[in-house]
Amino acid sequence: MKGSNFSSKRELIYSTLCSTKTHPSAKWVYEQLKEDHPDLSLGTVYRNIALFKEKGMAIPVANILGEERLDGDTSPHAHLVCKTCGRIEDIEMPALTLKNGKGFETDFITVTYFGICKECSH
Ligand SMILES: [Zn+2]
Ligand SMILES: [Zn+2]
Repeated sequence: MKGSNFSSKRELIYSTLCSTKTHPSAKWVYEQLKEDHPDLSLGTVYRNIALFKEKGMAIPVANILGEERLDGDTSPHAHLVCKTCGRIEDIEMPALTLKNGKGFETDFITVTYFGICKECSH
């Protein structure tokens, strides 16, 4: 059945995205899967990842060297992004208080520190 085949691809893409802590790009996910699944296209990976983002199952972390990098871990945490090597590391979410909330109800906060990692700075 066409429908079930589509959803199993979706699961495959999602589990590959969640299998790493490196915050991969869609292209990386595609590279991991294409050998075992030659019928999978990069477009399918992009479309599914767009859906994961829409559903809150994946978070876009940063654009590095023209590639959007993604996180399948949606638990609250912040990121360190090295603009030299593209490494993305998880860190604890800093305590943030909204001083002038203007009645705004927050349901998601993203914190990203851009800079140069230890390896690249020496
Ligand atoms: Zn670096
Ligand atoms: Zn992360």
